[in-house]
Amino acid sequence: MARVSFVTRERANMKWTLKKVFKKDGFRPLQEEVIISVIEGHDVFLQASTSFGKSLCYQLPAVLKEWGLTLVVCPLLALMTDQVNYLKGLGVSVATINSNTSSEERQRVMDDMLCGHPSTRILYVTPELLQTENFRRRLLIVHRQRQLVRVAIDEAHCISEWGHDFRTAYKELGWLRKNLVNPKIPITAVTATATPNVREDIIGILGLNLNDLRLFNTPSDRPNIHYEVRYRPNLEDDSAEAESSQLLNLHNWLKATRLRREARLGIEGSQNPPMSGIVYVGTRMMAEQLAVKLSSDETVHAIAYHAGVEAKKRTEIQSTWKSSRSFQPAQGRPNPTFSIIVATNAFGMGIDNPDVRFVVHWTPPKSFESFVQESGRAGRDGCAAVSLVYYGIQERDHIRNLIFRDAESHRGPNTKENRDVKVLSFGKVIKYCETITRCRHELIKEFFGDHELEEMGSQRPASDNVPVSSSPCDFACDFCKEGRGGLAMRRAKMGSETELYAYNE
Ligand SMILES: [Zn+2]
Repeated sequence: MARVSFVTRERANMKWTLKKVFKKDGFRPLQEEVIISVIEGHDVFLQASTSFGKSLCYQLPAVLKEWGLTLVVCPLLALMTDQVNYLKGLGVSVATINSNTSSEERQRVMDDMLCGHPSTRILYVTPELLQTENFRRRLLIVHRQRQLVRVAIDEAHCISEWGHDFRTAYKELGWLRKNLVNPKIPITAVTATATPNVREDIIGILGLNLNDLRLFNTPSDRPNIHYEVRYRPNLEDDSAEAESSQLLNLHNWLKATRLRREARLGIEGSQNPPMSGIVYVGTRMMAEQLAVKLSSDETVHAIAYHAGVEAKKRTEIQSTWKSSRSFQPAQGRPNPTFSIIVATNAFGMGIDNPDVRFVVHWTPPKSFESFVQESGRAGRDGCAAVSLVYYGIQERDHIRNLIFRDAESHRGPNTKENRDVKVLSFGKVIKYCETITRCRHELIKEFFGDHELEEMGSQRPASDNVPVSSSPCDFACDFCKEGRGGLAMRRAKMGSETELYAYNE
């Protein structure tokens, strides 16, 4: 009965706040259910694709009531800055304490915490800050004064050594559940990529209460993304030749994409803003070189992005790329059809450009989680998008060697476990790429344990409630489109069967 009265009372309130504060007309499927669970004070675990709008699930409850502080733990400065600026723009009383915060601002926020009635409604902090005695003491006071309402853990997969972004300080977050008691403070954990092992760690380390935990997930695969693997010919003795044939292959694919677009939109199509894409490469040098080579086609504007590019320039690249409508072609060149970022994995978290039409992995991704996250940056607007992975035996073996070499050079207590985790995850990449007998959407769902989540009672968006066994793939992968025969022929270029792992079941 309590729930019925809650629903009638709070739903209207939620919708009003959604519109008035967040300027949105409606919730995405499942968002409302998640938010209700958060408001009801449950522990919540939400695993959802990057386009889901996970932050709203703790931001809206944080401003729904007239008082109280919501603490958000976030691993990435860029992500934090984006969120804080966004919320400030909406007029929400939000603050952050991180390495870029001035000492005056830090003092102001810390004082506000202790005033008995903090005006800050959402406070973003790094997990490292939460390890400090000074901050912990203040947080406990806020809690004792009954002003701490909720804790949200963003990018919760960073808690697990099985995850691809493991962060030591995240492991200490178990402190929250152990110390924020009487009353117990509910915890909301959100992530885009959690395999079954990672999920188990998140729930265990945070001490989420299994009897009370509400689980939610959106399916890990993305029906609007066409997944395809392109096999690199085995030209062992001539890597330059292999490289240029791959470049030609990508140029041809871009050309075909452009022609299709022009056929669809008419010649006026060329007046449209360029299509956005990301090409992920392994090294900074590769990013620089490939950006130049791709731009040799005048329909392509490609620019390199990596940790070696200076911060100011990186921001500039991001903002130009995000607002492709204001794009200015270089002098003497026509309006490009493609605006491409050629990036190392430094380009990623927090990028929320919704209309990325393709993500290309120039070499195989190093972990399956990063593959799903990176390819998932395509098509966040729900429109058709493409994920291409270039895969070859030399690259495969090269990456495996790198994983072993890295483990050798970082001798530490967990070196072996850490290496095994990486090898296992890269094994999934190999399986994803070398399999020619199954739908790639199905493979992704399997690796992320979508089925197990359902057995644990996780709720999914109603519109996605298709039986797990049925394929959501409407010809949206190379297997479903070309069939086993077509894929086998393409894969044969890469190498003999004996060089492949036994993944053809
Ligand atoms: Zn398929």
